[in-house]
Amino acid sequence: MDYNKIFAEIYTELEKIPDTGKIASYIPELGNVDPNKFGVHLTTTDNQDYSFGDANEKFSIQSIAKVLALILAYDLEGEKLWDRVGVEPSGTSFNSLVQLESDLGIPRNPFINAGALVISDVLVGHLKNPKTDFINFVRKVANDPTIDYSSRIADSEKSTGYRNAALANFMKSFNNIHNEIDVVLDFYFHMCSIEMTCKELSRTFLFMAKKGVNTHNNEAILSAAKSKRINSIMQLCGFYDEAGEFAFKVGLPGKSGVGGGIIAIYPGKYSIAVWSPKLNKKGNSSRGIKFLEMLTTEV
Ligand code: GLN
Repeated sequence: MDYNKIFAEIYTELEKIPDTGKIASYIPELGNVDPNKFGVHLTTTDNQDYSFGDANEKFSIQSIAKVLALILAYDLEGEKLWDRVGVEPSGTSFNSLVQLESDLGIPRNPFINAGALVISDVLVGHLKNPKTDFINFVRKVANDPTIDYSSRIADSEKSTGYRNAALANFMKSFNNIHNEIDVVLDFYFHMCSIEMTCKELSRTFLFMAKKGVNTHNNEAILSAAKSKRINSIMQLCGFYDEAGEFAFKVGLPGKSGVGGGIIAIYPGKYSIAVWSPKLNKKGNSSRGIKFLEMLTTEV
């Protein structure tokens, strides 16, 4: 399949459609990114790479990192994890507080912020040096020792992270956060601050198209059964209150971040990362979704 040609054709079509999205500004540092950036990278399960546009430029992967955090927490905690976080689509925005009271502090799924804060708490509880151990896990999966947090982004998010602090405090009142709030939030903000290029992101997530097996060394990052489950959660919860629409339009498990990145997985076939910083009202990359819709509708 000549994906390079297909990407160029889709982009030409995409440029004709006005992008009504807006760059995330509630994290001040994210507001400084050039809104017109656009990159794509696709990696097939037999290791062919296809790039387009700004595919080699780093950006803040934000909530896409929640998938890697979930995988590590699932490995460390096992099935007990699901006592503390659900696997149902929330139908609410990524940073919503509304369901937590009636759900007695148990977040609907691990990808809304409340759920990712519980996952952060699980990791802080298990790991000896949580931030170092987590980034080392990401580096191992990515097969790239240079992947890192951005302290600039983490600090910026901390300075305006009132909703995340509210979520963590509220869940602690239900005893669903076990560690110190500040430690959990610091871990969470760092997790969200990881920077990658589309190429790095696509290659990092290829194992999810290969039943959990890391292409670089043929080691299982997670079992086939667990990778099925993580893909299911991505399919149902990866785009918050736009998850149904993304499934309808694109038809692949995926995860977005407010930095404008999206990772999507075609099991058995490819992983693809798209980056376009302008977000729609649901906090997902508007051009990124459109691009993926056109790709999976066309081929
Ligand atoms: N760091 C962001 C936040 O907590 C993550 C949200 C996202 O990428 N959807 O608000």
